[in-house]
Amino acid sequence: MTSSDTTNLWFEITAHCRPDEVEPVSAIMRSAAPGGVSIEEPIEPLGPELGYRVRDDARVAVRAYIPSSELGAMLTQQLREAMAAFPDVELVAKPVYEQDWAVSWREFFGTVRVGRIAIVPSWVEHVAAPHEVIVRLDPGRAFGTGHHETTRLCLAALQDIVRPGMSILDLGTGSGILSIAAAKLGAHRVLARDIDPAAVEVARQNIADNGAGDCVTVEKGSLESEAPLSGIDAIVANISTHAHVSLASAYAATLAPGGRLALSGILSADSALVTGAVERAGFERTAARYERDWCLLEFRRC
Ligand code: SAH
Repeated sequence: MTSSDTTNLWFEITAHCRPDEVEPVSAIMRSAAPGGVSIEEPIEPLGPELGYRVRDDARVAVRAYIPSSELGAMLTQQLREAMAAFPDVELVAKPVYEQDWAVSWREFFGTVRVGRIAIVPSWVEHVAAPHEVIVRLDPGRAFGTGHHETTRLCLAALQDIVRPGMSILDLGTGSGILSIAAAKLGAHRVLARDIDPAAVEVARQNIADNGAGDCVTVEKGSLESEAPLSGIDAIVANISTHAHVSLASAYAATLAPGGRLALSGILSADSALVTGAVERAGFERTAARYERDWCLLEFRRC
């Protein structure tokens, strides 16, 4: 889900609406695209030097720009849901590449909090409250900014699981967000792996920027049978139902007895499927967390 190639990709969303709908429709567009909206009235030229008149019988185009990131996907979804109240409005999305825009995607991100953890964009000034765990991130390059339910569920689980001195495997590290959080929660050693080389690069940078480089090692790969890991205290993996099912016995081999496993990226509807596969590999389920359609399942190696 790495989006390094699409950092500069935006969607121009145009809502074609009736003149009497412009106000509520622009309010909805504005709430999804804090960068603002432009309103294009349909005009009819009246002739040389006569100027033009605004036609009141044609549709008005309300336009906004949304970044093609993970957050952009959520904003677009919210926009569609809000626009359901205006069934006549036609929504059109067109990809555009940011080149020398004055506007930057950076202004769209704010601080995200999950329990004691605050994910703070690197350009935002933030004074840490006592006991607050700060993860500084430049979102937009790899998946994992704390905006997605599956990431937030992992951040919540890590706060329960991580104890000082533990060794943690973060499988599918993306931006490195969970490794940084684990390190700052007191893990002794964190191993971050991702099959996507672009994610590996982004994670390394984010980990270094957070001063977590001594504790966290980033490697390209997954759970390989050629060089098996073992004796790990906890695994957090925000990947997919399918991957969890096929990795179930590798999770067991990697963890120490009693080791903790937190699996995310699972639609709630698939929870029984993952639970069955993981229990058969020698785990007992200890908890489940839910956010919207997503769930995170926690297990303990028997
Ligand atoms: N951990 C981050 C990112 C999750 S996105 C967060 O919670 O927000 C999932 C990441 O897993 C992607 O970067 C993808 O490249 C990686 N991935 C997918 N399947 C994998 C596998 N089998 N082994 C290791 N990484 C995998």
